[in-house]
Amino acid sequence: MIHFIGAGPGAADLITVRGARLLGEADVIIYAGSLVNPALLDYKQEGCAVYDSASMTLEEVLAVMEETEARGGVTVRLHTGDPSLYGAIREQMDALDARGILYDVTPGVSAFSGAAAALRAEYTLPEVSQSVIITRMAGRTPVPQGEGLRKLAAHGCTLVLFLSAGLLEQAEAELLAGGYAPDTPAAIVYKATWPEERVFRCTVSTLARTAREHHISKTALITVGRFLGETYERSKLYDPTFTHACRKGTS
Ligand code: SAH
Repeated sequence: MIHFIGAGPGAADLITVRGARLLGEADVIIYAGSLVNPALLDYKQEGCAVYDSASMTLEEVLAVMEETEARGGVTVRLHTGDPSLYGAIREQMDALDARGILYDVTPGVSAFSGAAAALRAEYTLPEVSQSVIITRMAGRTPVPQGEGLRKLAAHGCTLVLFLSAGLLEQAEAELLAGGYAPDTPAAIVYKATWPEERVFRCTVSTLARTAREHHISKTALITVGRFLGETYERSKLYDPTFTHACRKGTS
């Protein structure tokens, strides 16, 4: 059996209860060492073998899984954040399907949730933004044509950029060209929920400069939008005058 597990954004106690339990039952753990906090390995049982996938190919990862499976062992594949975002798990699951090896997936707290917590922010504010775009700059992995940052920026909603902290000159230019005003609030969240977490608040037009000044080029998320501003409408749900299925309003 293979368990794909989301490790959460960094802090070792932000893994799910299920994820921690399965880590403790593993005979083999393959973890994404470049991003997963090594403190998570404290959940492992004695004798558990550990592989860092940072220097491994897909084929090597699969070979370890197959070997463990052949001797009836349990493998945990530990991915950072939630495995469904930039986790490269589809190719692993397809290969396991082809080999008839069973697996399941335990979700994790994504870095974008960790970043919101670090910012003490709510991405979806009434009359400000009711949508969150999660995307990245094209790097060595291309982004499909219809999803260029400039096009997505045209929505003006809350936007979270993964994998882009080293490309902020271009990101800034695309965000501005797409329609965000230069003074739109933005933030760079470095290592959200790790002990060394840092938050840098800025604007769209000062993103690149802010990252440069603080030497941030990786393990950071960029958040953009007026959700970081001062104004919003309060919620209907908790408005005393508003009636809904669970409560009668006063007017
Ligand atoms: N599956 C992960 C994302 C993997 S892609 C998730 O759901 O969070 C790796 C990118 O995620 C990094 O380049 C960085 O942009 C972001 N990232 C991961 N952990 C982070 C953290 N603790 N703080 C800020 N950004 C993080």
